[in-house]
Amino acid sequence: MNLSDGWLAGWYRRYNERYFAGDLPDEVDVLYAPVKGCCADVLPGELDDFVLRINPAFALDASIARITLLHEMVHIKLWPNRRHGAAFYEEIKRLAQAGAYKGIL
Ligand SMILES: [Zn+2]
Repeated sequence: MNLSDGWLAGWYRRYNERYFAGDLPDEVDVLYAPVKGCCADVLPGELDDFVLRINPAFALDASIARITLLHEMVHIKLWPNRRHGAAFYEEIKRLAQAGAYKGIL
């Protein structure tokens, strides 16, 4: 299990290039941090465009951490729409079809 923020940030950059055409902002603070009552969240940052937090208590293994990261990256793409509605699930479907979950699901 890799709980390093650098490991997470590396996956953020890789996924952004591979599955979001590099369109998501580079200035995102990606880190493990406690998130009250939730496994992860994304919020506008003060210094960075966004802060993307994954709760280490829910990140049971590297696959779950990466699946959660992809979920939060969709929230950034659709920001400020934070709903898990049709647009959100279209994006998840697009990621699945593009192979983003190969080897981790
Ligand atoms: Zn969500």
